Amino acid sequence: MRFPLALTAKIARHIIKHKVRKTPRFAMVLQLEPLHTCNLTCTGCGRIREYSTSLKDMMPLEDCLASATECDAPMVSICGGEPLIYPKIEELVNGILDQGRIVYVCTNGMFMRKKMREYLAAIYTPEQEQTLGTLLGEKLISDKEAETIRKGKSDQRPVIRPSKWMYWNVHIDGLEYTHDLIVEREGVFKECVEAIKMAKLLGYQVATNTTVYKETDVKEIEQMFEFFSSMEVDGHTISPGYDYDAAKKDMVKRLGKQPEDFFLTRAMTREKFAKIQEWGERFTIFGTPVYQEFLAGKRELTCTAWAIPTRNVRGWKAPCYLMTDGHYQGYQEMLDKVNWEKYGVVNGVARDPRCENCMVHCGYDPSGALGTNYQRGDNWKNFRYNFWPKPVPYTEGRKVNAFTGVSAGKGHLAEAKAAINHPLAGAKSAFQRNAAEPASSEGSCGTGDSSQRDELLAKIKDPGKR
Ligand code: SF4
Ligand code: SF4
Repeated sequence: MRFPLALTAKIARHIIKHKVRKTPRFAMVLQLEPLHTCNLTCTGCGRIREYSTSLKDMMPLEDCLASATECDAPMVSICGGEPLIYPKIEELVNGILDQGRIVYVCTNGMFMRKKMREYLAAIYTPEQEQTLGTLLGEKLISDKEAETIRKGKSDQRPVIRPSKWMYWNVHIDGLEYTHDLIVEREGVFKECVEAIKMAKLLGYQVATNTTVYKETDVKEIEQMFEFFSSMEVDGHTISPGYDYDAAKKDMVKRLGKQPEDFFLTRAMTREKFAKIQEWGERFTIFGTPVYQEFLAGKRELTCTAWAIPTRNVRGWKAPCYLMTDGHYQGYQEMLDKVNWEKYGVVNGVARDPRCENCMVHCGYDPSGALGTNYQRGDNWKNFRYNFWPKPVPYTEGRKVNAFTGVSAGKGHLAEAKAAINHPLAGAKSAFQRNAAEPASSEGSCGTGDSSQRDELLAKIKDPGKR
């Protein structure tokens, strides 16, 4: 089975309950954004740009937990920003698990090992020495960190423990070179791989979460699945790139790129996802087979954005994760007040021009599960996909050359460094900051650190600083 039985049963019960009651609209997954602060500044991330004026704000823990109860979604995806920066993330994860919901912690992976070391310290007894030995042998913890773990945890705060109801959902947009380029920092891919390795050794469930952009090489995505499948990752979500307004503006201003050079049109999405069904057979791709057919261009679906509502510091964001036409104080209020007929694409015609190129999972994946645009055989397809044995790990994936960037001496800063040494050659990285544009704190959001590249690019602009 793609999910543990208890999880599949919970989701199925939720859908059946609302179908029997004929509830017109209900939540399947809550996208909970307790904060928008992030330690990275990924190219194409709309969140840290749209909410750049409220990056220091956070939702109180009680509001986070109440939001899950209010919309009653069986799954809660804790995202952001970087959720592991949220000071009460442990209480939040445990609180939602206590409510009997499935939790995804959508993380960029940079603080995962720290959280797992805290877990190890909390459960430390001499019986854990074998595990510590393995982690030390794999260089996933240092000797100093092992010593700290052995001292145990000095406070009574909860920790994030492995659970079949919880997944680390790690943001991975390609192999090393591509991923580090998109997240605008070298070393992130390597840290994610080490965090995933450690998580699997400790018994956590791990999924990867990938966004496909125009420049994404499909072959590389396949290799990425092969590589992470060989690490026995429990599942993968994949979606076409978010065509956010805020991300588009940032792209023009900060990177000197046109959005159409980066984001996918519908036709391009269908080309990129032509093999999604084949991937679904080979790898544990999360998402319904109906949604996969939609991505591959084999059918149309109508958007059900209300099924994956987003709750953040400003309220319930409408109409969807991507677009913001307003924030509401309650989920039901949002359901009642938004004119849902204004949004989505019906039979290829966009009701709102901003929806035109959208095929994202948070708008259309639930449509596949809820039977919108139902075709004969869909229920069987969904049942088979979920209940048949899941694909076996692809052991050959160990041979994939995943470390194509800084680990192989080919980091994305190499061009900038070369430009410093040979200024006439110029730095022409695909995601290069617009050299004519002054570095501004407005677009480079959050506490994000793109300092490595910023410093180099500043030097390129100002030879006197070299
Ligand atoms: S990790 Fe990247 S995509 Fe996620 S919130 Fe931070 S900047 Fe945005
Ligand atoms: S199609 Fe749906 S999910 Fe996509 S932008 Fe429009 S409202 Fe949002």
